[in-house]
Amino acid sequence: MKALYFDGQLALQEVDKPQPGPGEALIQVTLAGLCGTDREILKGYSQFCGIPGHEFVGRVVECAEKKWVGKRVVGEINVACGACELCLWGLDRHCPTRTVMGIANRDGAFAEYLTLPVINLHEVPKAVPDEAAVFVEPLAAAAEILEQMKIPPGSRVAVLGDGRLGLLVAQVLHHAEARVTVIGKHAGKLDLARSWGIKAACLGDAEPAAHSFNVVVEATGSPAALDEALRLAEPRATVVMKSTFHQPAQFDTSQLVVNEVTLLGSRCGNFPPALDLLRRGHVKVRPLISKTFPLEAGIEAFNYFETPSCLKVLLVANSEQP
Ligand SMILES: [Zn+2]
Ligand SMILES: [Zn+2]
Repeated sequence: MKALYFDGQLALQEVDKPQPGPGEALIQVTLAGLCGTDREILKGYSQFCGIPGHEFVGRVVECAEKKWVGKRVVGEINVACGACELCLWGLDRHCPTRTVMGIANRDGAFAEYLTLPVINLHEVPKAVPDEAAVFVEPLAAAAEILEQMKIPPGSRVAVLGDGRLGLLVAQVLHHAEARVTVIGKHAGKLDLARSWGIKAACLGDAEPAAHSFNVVVEATGSPAALDEALRLAEPRATVVMKSTFHQPAQFDTSQLVVNEVTLLGSRCGNFPPALDLLRRGHVKVRPLISKTFPLEAGIEAFNYFETPSCLKVLLVANSEQP
């Protein structure tokens, strides 16, 4: 099969089609999404070697559990051991021996086929088209914030970063009736937030006042944003960190101590609430698609991904359905 393979350099290669192990399904990938984490991986994050890609929608073509065959699915990316203490507590996303599809010790979705355990799969409801379903993983990561902390209606929330993740987080928290302000640098992306009824502010002009938010979500992908997040956080506020950096971040910790700010790391989330948000149309994802490339043009897609105005880039791995 064709795949984008990374071993210090990304290249389109012909590789063996994966064989599903016990409890696994073979999935023909329909669409896959590029994510900031993929960019970090190409810079060396997680010392990954193999096929990257962890956002996908596809169709099960082979599975011992026959009820899955032919189903349109999305898949949770953490593959846990299922037996350790963390797994038994239901914290399988934190299993110390987990593999993570396209990120750590497991091939990912920038390929014609992938394998995942059946327990990772979720059937996509009919009402959710492929172009929306491919956003389930980042949308689940956005919705994870609400599983980690209470954000009562009316809370003043700043979302730092007007990229893909920032715009998903802003929509999820806006839907939860928080008073959200997206803060970014790109007029077009900020206008998109405004078109959904979300307040937006451009860095450099009319920036919000210091210490004016209960919650600040850092979704810029840049370590430098942590200082700005702490500037915006009011005393006893929570700063939610969403970005994973390849490089260590530096920020002024005295701000954190003096204002008694809570720093909350936040990563992957559960898929069912995200699928539900998509099914009900509570979150708009199609306007986030900047461009779609065939898998064969994957390198070109990664280059295009660096365009400042770019939001989501998708790869079409298989245009014909089985
Ligand atoms: Zn991602
Ligand atoms: Zn485990």
